[in-house]
Amino acid sequence: MPDFTTHRHPVLAVGCPTCCKPPGVWCRRPSGHRAGDLHQGRKAEADRVFIAQHGDTASILRTAAGWQIDPRGRIRD
Ligand SMILES: [Zn+2]
Repeated sequence: MPDFTTHRHPVLAVGCPTCCKPPGVWCRRPSGHRAGDLHQGRKAEADRVFIAQHGDTASILRTAAGWQIDPRGRIRD
């Protein structure tokens, strides 16, 4: 099960459907260079898996130690 809190970016919890990089590995351009940003399809996939796993009220936030899941982050004012 993907863990959204263990990587330096939460989206890295899932593999990329665009450039086929596995979880934990940053996206690459077709040229092989490290992409400046993660692929849009990977972000969408991470959103989908995150909601399936934690529910649509959950959000993820950055803490001093890394990342933390707030189960009710999206319904809090
Ligand atoms: Zn990618």
